[in-house]
Amino acid sequence: MWSIIHTYLKDFFNLFYPSICCACGNHLYDGEECICIACRMSMPYTNDEQIKRNATYKVFDGRVRVEAASSLFFFKKKSRVQNVLHYLKYKNHEELGLVLGSMHAEQLSKSDLFAEVDVVIPVPLHPNKFKKRGYNQAALLAKGYSEVFHALLDEQSLIRTEDTSTQTRKNRYERYENMNQMFKCIDEHNIRGKNILLIDDVITTGSTVESCALELLKAGCKKVYIASVAIA
Ligand SMILES: [Zn+2]
Repeated sequence: MWSIIHTYLKDFFNLFYPSICCACGNHLYDGEECICIACRMSMPYTNDEQIKRNATYKVFDGRVRVEAASSLFFFKKKSRVQNVLHYLKYKNHEELGLVLGSMHAEQLSKSDLFAEVDVVIPVPLHPNKFKKRGYNQAALLAKGYSEVFHALLDEQSLIRTEDTSTQTRKNRYERYENMNQMFKCIDEHNIRGKNILLIDDVITTGSTVESCALELLKAGCKKVYIASVAIA
């Protein structure tokens, strides 16, 4: 009886998430979750979690005090990594967020560089964007990291005050000013003295994560760590 219900539920679930690999599009076999075994074995991993001055760390070096940083994959256009990020960003794929977040966190938790993480915070979306999209893709990932690290997931203390979609109407200086006040810590009590792992889906210029980190340090957090699924 249970197996019938199970199959029924699985078929129902597949209406929303067809069981294909989010990276290569091939059919998933039983037991494969979101990303097929072949992709898991051959995705462009950075394997950078043991290297202090890796590519992700260097993005922030000299801009903001970061304890350690890591990205799971190297990003390339029209690649399997881009496909995975697309599923995460536009299809509210909660299970994929968990899979990617925990995959990366398993690696990070073996590195001494990330030994002290006690709070996980996703880069927040502006409330307007949240309303439009219905979820924050960085928060889907953050859940996976927090589970592996047994760390507190905090989605409340840091908020986004500026909607970046209005940025194109501003001049360069205004945009610069704007970046500096894009985030606000509304509950310093939860931040002060904490070792915080900041999560974003992809790091390009790093300016969004940088302004989050600056705000957290201003609010008195002890150490900032950064993790993302991909680095461009
Ligand atoms: Zn695949």
